[in-house]
Amino acid sequence: MVNVAMDGPVGAGKSSVARECARRLGFIYVDTGALYRSCALFCINKGVEISADSEAAIAEVLEKELTLTIDLIDGEQHVYVNGEDVSDKIRTLEISKAASAISALPAVRKYLLDTQRSIAANNNVIMDGRDIGTVILPNADLKIFITAKPEIRAKRRFDELVAKGSNVTLGEVLVEVNRRDYNDTHRKEAPLKQAEDAILIDTSDIDFEETVSGITDLIMAKYETLG
Ligand code: C5P
Repeated sequence: MVNVAMDGPVGAGKSSVARECARRLGFIYVDTGALYRSCALFCINKGVEISADSEAAIAEVLEKELTLTIDLIDGEQHVYVNGEDVSDKIRTLEISKAASAISALPAVRKYLLDTQRSIAANNNVIMDGRDIGTVILPNADLKIFITAKPEIRAKRRFDELVAKGSNVTLGEVLVEVNRRDYNDTHRKEAPLKQAEDAILIDTSDIDFEETVSGITDLIMAKYETLG
């Protein structure tokens, strides 16, 4: 199996780039952020507070009451919470905030570790997240770290949210991007950071096609050397 780790901050273009590379190569694209978002949605619906103080209670409801599954439909990842497809419900600003908070809890990261590793063990994957190259798949065949300037990332995330009918402002999204960058890079457990052996790609000044074809070429080259 070929495992590609794709990490980077919010709005760097990871998910659309990873999805398109996977489509061209016939790999499975795994959006790990959706798993944290689904855990957050589940806790909110259960009325379990998301904070460090309630870590034990969160771990307990996740272990005992949540069955989290993913499926690919026409190349798109769908995520299911106890059988319900929550793929759209997890894309709100409220869930973004809650996912950022819940992902800082070691018990939650532990809960999701095996799910992520077992998908990678059985498939050619491009897995997108924050700690894929550093923690989840430290022996990935190829590690890519995608980033871009915060203003550019906020604008991309803003365009996505507006396209989905949200009435947020660009300023609100920039505040949120900066806050999540801070949380993701400063948390104790598995902080967002570039793995030493990752290739850094800054997409601030390169377009989508250039990014996708560059990364696809890197993966193909790796794939060929692995036979
Ligand atoms: O990538 P996405 O924005 O959907 O991720 C939601 C949140 O989940 C992020 O803010 C980040 O804190 C967290 N996350 C994480 N590790 C991952 C993927 C996402 O901590 N591998």
